[in-house]
Amino acid sequence: MIDSKLVKETVKALGADLCGVAPVERFGGAPEGFHPTDIWSSCKSVIVFAKKLPSQSLFADNCIPYTFVNTMLTQEVDWLIIEISLKLEAMGIANVPIPSDDPYLHWEADRSYGRAILSMKHAGYLAGLGVLGKNTLLINGDYGNMIQIGAVLVAAELEPDPIATYEACMADCILCLDSCPAQALDGVTVNQQLCRPLSNYKTEKGYILKKCYECRKVCPNALGIVGERRRSTQT
Ligand code: SF4
Ligand code: SF4
Repeated sequence: MIDSKLVKETVKALGADLCGVAPVERFGGAPEGFHPTDIWSSCKSVIVFAKKLPSQSLFADNCIPYTFVNTMLTQEVDWLIIEISLKLEAMGIANVPIPSDDPYLHWEADRSYGRAILSMKHAGYLAGLGVLGKNTLLINGDYGNMIQIGAVLVAAELEPDPIATYEACMADCILCLDSCPAQALDGVTVNQQLCRPLSNYKTEKGYILKKCYECRKVCPNALGIVGERRRSTQT
């Protein structure tokens, strides 16, 4: 068996802040067509990693710093995915890199609904990197929701990481739902059609800005899980 610890150390040495492994069997709940084996039938494990975003960009009084951070970290994680893929290949581990966000094929124009080929936040959950909040974001114990996630499919059976057992959301917390100016959140999903005009706002000049990220910002666990719900199981 390939040494999972060595693989994760390698991923972190290349620049990831978090890394975990999810066996492909954990993806049983993925929608048809969006399972790792729908992308690559040889997939046995999914290596999921994340990079931390500069946290205070979230609290700037102008949306440009957060837009900048989001844009640059998406690019950086995409480059990291390529670097990890090449390194694993050099180690003799067959793999397929997955884009952290786009491009993707699935698009329903009537409701502005897009779906990536693999859900990074669900992959992150299945690899033990965090838990999903009612704002639909992955929340890591140390870094909260200020992370950008990437993944690589591998043909090898790697030692899985435990799924995180901490809880992010208090039962009575609905701060993210209440703060959404578009009423796009229901506690389980996000209505992309309502959210997209604000989260991907196009300026007259043609820039795409993250004009709204209230559901991320208002969360008490935005920068790490606080209080008694915190456990030390994050990778
Ligand atoms: S980004 Fe803004 S509009 Fe979109 S779900 Fe979050 S709070 Fe609502
Ligand atoms: S604001 Fe509250 S309900 Fe929403 S994700 Fe954060 S902890 Fe969960």
